[in-house]
Amino acid sequence: MAQPFPPGARLLARPASATPCPTCGNPTGRGYPDCTACAAEVDAYWLADWGALLSGSGVAEGTQEEKDLAAQVLTAPPGHHPWTCDDWAMRRTPCPECRAELGSGALDCLSCASADQSRWAWPHLAPTDRMHPNEKALRQAVTRLRSAERGRPGVVSFCKLVLPFLLTGETPTRVQARRIRMHLMAGREDELSEATSIAHMASLPTLPWRS
Ligand SMILES: [Zn+2]
Ligand SMILES: [Zn+2]
Repeated sequence: MAQPFPPGARLLARPASATPCPTCGNPTGRGYPDCTACAAEVDAYWLADWGALLSGSGVAEGTQEEKDLAAQVLTAPPGHHPWTCDDWAMRRTPCPECRAELGSGALDCLSCASADQSRWAWPHLAPTDRMHPNEKALRQAVTRLRSAERGRPGVVSFCKLVLPFLLTGETPTRVQARRIRMHLMAGREDELSEATSIAHMASLPTLPWRS
């Protein structure tokens, strides 16, 4: 058997810096998933792994065999495929209960909740070098943005703000994440969206109390 827990999202090089998206004008990734250009840049890391799985299995894209392969991936034990392939198989599979993309449906869909929970068995069980904290943060942001109704509005804003910098390999520390959320709650989204890095967002000066 192949080595368990093959890493994901490592076939393509990451961008050195966050550059403006030619379509939406925001740092690339911030428009995920509504801006098609942002979505293509982000999804490319997942698609590269899925494409490798398809060619390794002799399966063509867009065929019934691809759907069958997605079903096989979803029933395989955690760590059998790269985590990106687990995610892509979920995207290709409608939820049997709510018909949304599996794992991204409404909060009260038990089938989606269970699929989403299984998704996170991968990093829980994998040796630490197979999924870096940045990759986990990237996966979390993308997962939350694909099921925007699951997260509170502040969570979605946070994910959109950091995604362009997660792509470049920057990962917020707990303290940085807390500060960015605090700035968001203070209604400073405009200032945050002008920032050129996660560190920059977190280091916005704290405003004096306004009475
Ligand atoms: Zn865009
Ligand atoms: Zn569902």
